[in-house]
Order: sequence, then C-alpha cells, then structure tokens
Amino acid sequence: MSSIKKEAERCLKCKNPRCAANCPVATPIPQVMQLFLDGEIEEAGRVLFENNPLTAVTSIICPHERNCAGHCVLGIKSTPVEFYRIEEYISRFYLETMTVPEIEKNGIKVAVAGAGPAGLAMSLMLLAKGYDVTLFEAQDDIGGVLRYGIPPFRLPRDLLDMYKDVLLRMGVRFRPNTRIGTNLQIADLFPDGYKAVFVAAGTGRPNRLGLLGETLGHVHFAIDYLKSPDTFRLGNRVAVVGAGNVAIDAARTAIRRERSHVTILHFMGEEDMTANRDEVEMAEIDGVEFVHYAQAVRITDEGVRCVRVNRIENEDGSVSFEEDYTETFDVPADSVILAIGQGPGADVNAGSIKVTQRGFLEVNEFGETNTPGVYAAGDIVTGPKTVVEAVAFAKKVFPHMEEYLKSQA
Ligand SMILES: Cc1cc2nc3c(=O)[nH]c(=O)nc-3n(C[C@H](O)[C@H](O)[C@H](O)COP(=O)(O)OP(=O)(O)OC[C@H]3O[C@@H](n4cnc5c(N)ncnc54)[C@H](O)[C@@H]3O)c2cc1C
Ligand code: SF4
Repeated sequence: MSSIKKEAERCLKCKNPRCAANCPVATPIPQVMQLFLDGEIEEAGRVLFENNPLTAVTSIICPHERNCAGHCVLGIKSTPVEFYRIEEYISRFYLETMTVPEIEKNGIKVAVAGAGPAGLAMSLMLLAKGYDVTLFEAQDDIGGVLRYGIPPFRLPRDLLDMYKDVLLRMGVRFRPNTRIGTNLQIADLFPDGYKAVFVAAGTGRPNRLGLLGETLGHVHFAIDYLKSPDTFRLGNRVAVVGAGNVAIDAARTAIRRERSHVTILHFMGEEDMTANRDEVEMAEIDGVEFVHYAQAVRITDEGVRCVRVNRIENEDGSVSFEEDYTETFDVPADSVILAIGQGPGADVNAGSIKVTQRGFLEVNEFGETNTPGVYAAGDIVTGPKTVVEAVAFAKKVFPHMEEYLKSQA
C-alpha cells in the first residue's frame, strides 16, 4: 500500500472526473486532492465536511469499488487511485481539530426523528444555518446503524463520539431513548413550536424467511445480534443465511467474539453477492466458509436444511435461479443467524403520513410527505441502501425544507 501522499500524486485531476460523478454526494475529488497536495489539509477538510457532513464515515465504509474508486480512469489499465484513504485521513483530522464557528441562531425549531446517517446529516446542515434542532432517538446514543449495526472493527466508535461532541457544541438538543410514534406523536411536535419535522427512522425490522423453525431458541436475526453481540451465546457452529453486508458483519463478529466456525448460506453465486467486495474478501481471510447456490428450506434444532439451486443462463442473456427439491442437504449449526434484509416496522408510527404498500414513507423527490412540514429521507423511504445514499438524500431534501421553513417565518 502506497503512502497517501504518493496516492494523491498519482491522481490525474481529470477535467471531467468520473470518480466524483459516481460518488452519490459528488465529492469534489480533484479539488480536495489539490488542497491536500498543497498542504491545505484544514481547507480540504472543510470542503469535504461541508459537502458531506459524514465524510469521516463514508470514506471508510462506502462501497468504493462501485463508487469513486470503481470509476477512476487509471483503473481501466492499472490500479485506481484510492481517494477514500486520503479522504479518511483528512476528514478524521478535520473532525479531531474542528472549531465550531459562532452561529447566529434564527429561533426556528426543527425536529429530527432518528440519529442515523440521514438524521445526523440533516441535523448538522440545519445547525450550521442557525436552526434550533431537537434530535429524537429511540436508542441511547447517536449513530443508528453506524453504532448499532456495523461492528467496531469496521468503523471505530470514537468517530461517532466526535460527531456527538460536534453536534452538542453546535447546540443540538438531544433526546435519547425517545421513540417518536409511541407516547410522543409527530402531530404533538407542531403545537410545541416546531416548524418542520424530518423523519429518518431507518429500517429496524428484519425480514423473515417464512420457514418452519424460525421461532426456535437458537435462531436470531442478524440486526438484533449486531446490536449487542455480547448478550448472545452462539456456540461453535454458526450458520448465517444471506450474503449482504449484514450477513458478512454478523459472520465476522461471531468469529471474533466466540471463535465460532461460521458458514454463510447463499442461494446465488459469489458474483451475485450484494456485500462490498473487500468485506467478502476479509470474511474469507477471517475463515468464513461460503456455501453458494444453497436455499434454506427449513430450520431444525440441529441446523439448516437446504436444497441446491441451479443457475440458469437464459437465451436473452438474463440469469435465473431454480431450486432443485430432489437434492436436500443439512448444514449443522448450534445457532442460525438470518440476514435477508430489513423493512420498516414499528420504527415510526407515521400517523396520517402516507406509506407505500411495503410500509416505507411515501415522499416526492424532495422528501416531502403528504403532511405539510413533514419530510423524510434515508432507508425509511428507499429501503436498505448505503450511508452515502442516505446522506445524499438528506442533502437533496435540505433546500426544500429550508424553503418551507422560510415560508412559515
Ligand atoms: C449491519 C449493517 C451493515 C451495513 N454496512 C454498510 C456499509 O458497509 N456501507 C454502507 O454504506 N452502508 C452499510 N449499511 C447500510 C447503512 O448503514 C444504512 O443504509 C444507513 O445507516 C441508513 O441510514 P438511516 O439514517 O436512513 O437509518 P439508520 O441508520 O437505520 O438510523 C435510523 C435511526 O432512527 C432511529 N429510530 C427508529 N425509529 C425511531 C423513532 N420512531 N423515533 C426516533 N428514532 C427512531 C433508530 O434507532 C436509528 O438510530 C449497513 C447496514 C447494516 C444493518
Ligand atoms: S463519499 Fe464515498 S463514494 Fe464519495 S468519494 Fe468518499 S468514499 Fe468515494
């Protein structure tokens, strides 16, 4: 691995940078590279932070191979520039040394429900413009999936503590352990003077497989496990059903906590996995065993019963998968972890806000719900995506929400 300085020197500073065009928050990569090479690290940090308040996080956990690095022009013939490593260095330095400027308050109250990436990005943007922000969070701390999902060996928790410190210094009012939609409803916020509400409640309900055996005592949902792995005793053999980031995080955590032998069961092939490529590689290094083309059909006290899946390449070039019920096999497991996606559940009781058929909040392209003054973004609208996409969505909503707030003043 080259030094980050050498890495920055390799950048061609393209006029039409494909890396920035494929970053969901359009990070001005050549500009940041130049500032960094000129020794202007603080200015580079400011540019990054103002463009994407969660830059210190996204630089670490973005699917780089699909976004910036995956589109670097140098990657066509050789190795792409790893801008995200430079971004990580600059943005951490900026967060560690950040001075919060005196911001004149405008006296306009805004409520934010959910302190995950979308809620944090929105709170930071509102605070920077002088709004009086109250951040309601169902858990006891900020971060959402960043704190209660992604394991610390992938995302250092001190970053989240630094963000909390910045938020508090910028004047946020934080209400932890407070779930909007239970005793406090969205409708209760307006009479207390809030002029707008931003809902960023994520997707906290794990999807079910719908198989016999799902209620057995040794079966756990991955997002429940990742919330507090220390409270679980998984045993020696663990089977994980699913092949996205959540499955990989659960598998790698089980190996670290209990030295378990972990098998990931996936009904498609290696090339069809949705997890970040480098996470899959790390899981292999950690010792996770992958069984592809295996569809779970029943969970028993002894493990998971599967059938084989055939990959069929159709004449039109598309690919389909077909279970072969003539061949079953058992994967023995002391614990079974299910990681087959999440949806909105009791995350937020939206009251009169329109939801889609699948239960996500229904918004227009600017994040407006059918209730005036109530906006939403992030996974609660789009379904499970990525951190940078949640931030990009909040950024898109912000000017429209501000326009609405100004119209109410
Ligand atoms: C295990 C795991 C690994 C992942 N790995 C990656 C990765 O490597 N890279 C990547 O880019 N993305 C990854 N993702 C996806 C990414 O974390 C999400 O897309 C992102 O966190 C969505 O942000 P959000 O703000 O919409 O929701 P969340 O992060 O889910 O935050 C929502 C917050 O709202 C709170 N809340 C819920 N209901 C209420 C309520 N009624 N009132 C108040 N607060 C409420 C929740 O407690 C939570 O803190 C991963 C997801 C998981 C689960
Ligand atoms: S935010 Fe993510 S996609 Fe954008 S430049 Fe940074 S690491 Fe790449």
